[in-house]
Amino acid sequence: MEPEECVTGRYTFAVIGGGIAGVSCVEQILEFDPEASILLISSSPVVKVATQVTRLSKTLEDFIVLEKPLKSFKDVHQSVRVVHGVVAELLPEQHLVITKAGEKFQYKKVCICAGASPKVLFPGWEHVVGIRDTESVAQLAQRISKARKVLLLGNGGIATEFVHEVTGVDIVWAIKDKSISAHFVDPGAAEFFIQSKLSNINASQPGDTASPNISTSCDPCEHVSTSASTSGEGVAVTSVQTTELDSDTTSKNLPSKRRKYTISSILPDSGKESQKQDSFGSALGPDWHQNVNLKGQNLLKNVEILYEKECVGIRTNESTGADMWPVLAELNDGSVIGCDLVVSATGVSPNCSLFKYCEQEIEKGIFTDDAMRTSVKDVYAAGDVCFPNWTWSKHWFQMRLWTQARQMGLYAGKSMFLSAQNELNPDDATEIDLDFCFECFSHVTRFFGFKVVLLGLFNGQGLDKAKQHLLIRCTKNLEYIKLVLEDWRLQGAILIGDTGLEETFENLILNQVDLSSYGEDLLNPDIDIEDYFD
Ligand code: FAD
Repeated sequence: MEPEECVTGRYTFAVIGGGIAGVSCVEQILEFDPEASILLISSSPVVKVATQVTRLSKTLEDFIVLEKPLKSFKDVHQSVRVVHGVVAELLPEQHLVITKAGEKFQYKKVCICAGASPKVLFPGWEHVVGIRDTESVAQLAQRISKARKVLLLGNGGIATEFVHEVTGVDIVWAIKDKSISAHFVDPGAAEFFIQSKLSNINASQPGDTASPNISTSCDPCEHVSTSASTSGEGVAVTSVQTTELDSDTTSKNLPSKRRKYTISSILPDSGKESQKQDSFGSALGPDWHQNVNLKGQNLLKNVEILYEKECVGIRTNESTGADMWPVLAELNDGSVIGCDLVVSATGVSPNCSLFKYCEQEIEKGIFTDDAMRTSVKDVYAAGDVCFPNWTWSKHWFQMRLWTQARQMGLYAGKSMFLSAQNELNPDDATEIDLDFCFECFSHVTRFFGFKVVLLGLFNGQGLDKAKQHLLIRCTKNLEYIKLVLEDWRLQGAILIGDTGLEETFENLILNQVDLSSYGEDLLNPDIDIEDYFD
């Protein structure tokens, strides 16, 4: 124990990080004991609070994230000491957290919720921008406002939303995969987005029409008249219903490697000023683009998608002149793209290096057990910074998402509180059971303006392709539903549009009911599947 005069304060619980994981952890402890002695240290001047939480199913919650000043959080939770500071050291033996400003705080239990940082390709280059927090989005908006053409690198949720939200600029979207948004959805859903939102005008096929490369397994166009087929990847596919597909599109060859689209719908700009914050800001949530004006110099937006392409180098254009691009990016096929700006949305790395004594892997994060405990006594971790190192249930896996940051934060809070209680009352000790939310992966988000629900092994993650069977229903501009089955038991689902089927399919994943007797009727639009399984 540190001498009294050396310590700034003593707390039962300390939480490092004011993102969604840290705040959820604090809120959960307060649920148990509104008077609990808690310290929250955050390097960001704002905290992220989940509001308007709506339960959509057993494991699926929709909510809005609000950024609130640290002070207002303190006003609401008066028993919490909120410190705006950067943690420089955590000394687990002494149970001390030390800030850069030299303050020392003693704790009994601490939770590391320090989040993750973007892996910006070509860091330090003037013409490269990464998206991470409110400040980086504000910078991005400023740079976009002067841009006519942007090279976008990355194929996750952020890149997908960027393509949808940005207006008035040409986007060259270079992706490593064979289909857009591959981190989240399958090629069929990607094609649904393209056909619903990107193909209205000018779907041109420029020079490079190399061999078709979008996987055909889930291409909705392909399934118009198919009752059952086997995809190139060996997954059996049955299309129950596809409607309103362009006859034009169905008769065309499969998509080429290189395609050009013009977005027809240009969204109105919100034009609000974004908030200024320091360089350790929290990761953004799904509405990261809502408060900024992401509009470039052009009247329209052209999107060119380059499949299976990576950027291998960039250089500043030595030549100057009105029609010269300031930056030249070289792709893995040797082609060079000239543009005003390169936007890097290429994933994140957990901020775990400060906490080296906790068992960790640099790309995975700090390992936690099934009670969110790290390898170090009284040190817990939650959210993007951690790696859940327990045997996962068959239908759950980690994705660094806002939903999971909240689930882990809440669960860590519960675990810390119970552990502290158990130490006070060892004769009455309570064991913690793994929270039910870790039974089935679930996530709700919006892509291209559509509600997107992902359940279980929605892309057949880890399943034997030979045993998988896909059922697909697709109605252009309305919905795309894909079910992943193994031995006629539901393993995962992608639901795009307002299908209202999330609860039903989540139950079927959790219960592992044999669905062979329903067969393709599972997605028959004339059968009310919800009533069937009520
Ligand atoms: P963070 O929110 O990153 O919070 C980390 C906190 O730790 C911050 O408060 C930071 O200031 C603090 N901190 C870090 N180091 C220190 C230190 N040394 N001392 C003190 N404090 C420290 N997820 C979705 O589910 N849906 C989406 O649509 C979605 N869109 C996204 C869009 C963008 C542009 C980005 C960047 C992410 C998006 N995410 C999305 C991911 C989601 O934002 C993160 O998974 C989630 O915010 C992680 O929460 P966290 O609390 O673990 O970490």
